[in-house]
Amino acid sequence: METLGGLLIMLVCFAIVVGAVYGVYYLLFKRRKKPEPVMYCNECGYTGTTVKSMRGSLAVEFVLWLFFAIPGLIYSLWRRSTRKQACSNCKSRSVIPASSPKAKAAVTH
Ligand SMILES: [Zn+2]
Repeated sequence: METLGGLLIMLVCFAIVVGAVYGVYYLLFKRRKKPEPVMYCNECGYTGTTVKSMRGSLAVEFVLWLFFAIPGLIYSLWRRSTRKQACSNCKSRSVIPASSPKAKAAVTH
């Protein structure tokens, strides 16, 4: 029983440390945030700023973190690795820079 308690405390400490490291990383990353580029959407033809889109769900992430710290961490990292710009009009991830020749051709035609 004592080893199980020790393991649990270790896991909780690990989760706190990972959370703190991620928090600091996120704050640093956010501060260096560049202005949103203007993108052209292949789906609806919208040209403008984009929103950040990730695969998976925040609810699943939260539950995993709550019950299993390690899968939660893996899931969080996977979600962030899928972070991509998405159209702020239709949420499509099929966006290309508005300055690209393809987008310019699509806009003028
Ligand atoms: Zn769109």
